[in-house]
Amino acid sequence: MSTGSAVAEPTGTSVAGPLGEARAQLAEAAAILGYDAAETAVLAAPRREVTVSIPLRRDDGTTEVLTGHRVQHNLSRGPAKGGLRYSPDVDLDEVRALAMWMTWKCALLDVPYGGAKGGVVIDPRQYSTAELERVTRRYTSEIMPMIGPTRDIPAPDIGTDEQTMAWMMDTYSVASGHTVLGVVTGKPISLGGSLGRASATSRGVVYTALAALRHLAIDPASATAAVQGFGKVGRGTARFLDEAGVRVTAVSDQYGAVWCGGGLDLPALEDHVDRTGSVTGWSGAEPVENDVLLALDVDLLVPAAIEGVIHRGNAAAVRARVVVEGANGPTTTEADRLLEERGVLVVPDILANAGGVVVSYFEWVQANQAYWWSEAEVEARLADRMAGAWQDVLAASRQHDCSLRTAATCLAVRRVAEAHRQRGLYP
Ligand code: NAD
Repeated sequence: MSTGSAVAEPTGTSVAGPLGEARAQLAEAAAILGYDAAETAVLAAPRREVTVSIPLRRDDGTTEVLTGHRVQHNLSRGPAKGGLRYSPDVDLDEVRALAMWMTWKCALLDVPYGGAKGGVVIDPRQYSTAELERVTRRYTSEIMPMIGPTRDIPAPDIGTDEQTMAWMMDTYSVASGHTVLGVVTGKPISLGGSLGRASATSRGVVYTALAALRHLAIDPASATAAVQGFGKVGRGTARFLDEAGVRVTAVSDQYGAVWCGGGLDLPALEDHVDRTGSVTGWSGAEPVENDVLLALDVDLLVPAAIEGVIHRGNAAAVRARVVVEGANGPTTTEADRLLEERGVLVVPDILANAGGVVVSYFEWVQANQAYWWSEAEVEARLADRMAGAWQDVLAASRQHDCSLRTAATCLAVRRVAEAHRQRGLYP
């Protein structure tokens, strides 16, 4: 296991991919806020990183060695918080970017956390449940010194779920000698999970989507939407948009997309996905290419899958009036500029998908107090937080005549920088 504070990391934007995007966004905000290079470098550098080997005994008796990462980007406003991703595409730079975005998201929503992210390089679909349990327990055990209710609190992300969190909680608790509910969020309800957590990210996405439609004077009842990704975030987003009267005409997953101009029958589609594991092959809609979904003539486009899907090469083809970023980092910096030039309103990830971390915070508060809230209370508090953040970001974007992303990043970065200044530099 290698561990230690990250020092002398480049803070420039020359690195490609999500980390380059994240650094470019920070650099822009820091310039607007008037921060000097040293202050910006402190904000850019990950505070702590660990890369671990995860030896796995497979069900057939062979052994494989997997790699995992945990990055704590910033701890100035509280314990680190961020999801755990299982994907074959995970690498350290991606985890660094996602951890930085978590720092800004927590600050923007004013939850008392820093930002973190974890990842294991694995395609979970290729492994049995028993193998995934062994991977999760070994990874948890390897990063044990970094995590805990007052240190760093993981949650589900791509490829992980409430079962993963239950295994993490159990592994940590067994090693601690007592049950520690507050070490992870996104747990099953029967193990101290919060009511409303599973749907919280999607609910937040839909709050901001509806707020954006209102802002543009578009009636949801006459609006259409396309959702990329049909996992924990995309599926709930499609359902809640449908419930709000928006016609969802297309959804996709990693295997393909389906389209129906009159609106998808979502309960029937969900049934099909539960049976087959994919939206493809469903007889209730036409199959279309994944790229076609991004270019559909809809009011709302919700990328809710992976990073970098709207880029220089396809941004000009986006016809939606509003892009609501359910995923983290789905729009590259160049695409962002192209969309802005064409008047497409982009609701940035650190605002749009923040519902998950808000209710994760509520789950942690409930676990720490051993006092459980009703679903109605959770949802009312979530709505309140999302509405407040939307208003703050909209007001800042009007004041500075900038995009919602720049406004959101500036608000968040300023809060983190203030915490840095007030705490001072030690020693
Ligand atoms: P998930 O694993 O539950 O679902 C991911 C979905 O995206 C799957 O349907 C998968 O098939 C699809 N997908 C993958 N690659 C694709 C591609 N190239 N084109 C179309 N679809 C593709 O993951 P999730 O938890 O729903 O996370 C999705 C995104 O939302 C990620 O960016 C994640 O970081 C972000 N996010 C998640 C949460 C949360 O609470 N789960 C909170 C905030 C942000």
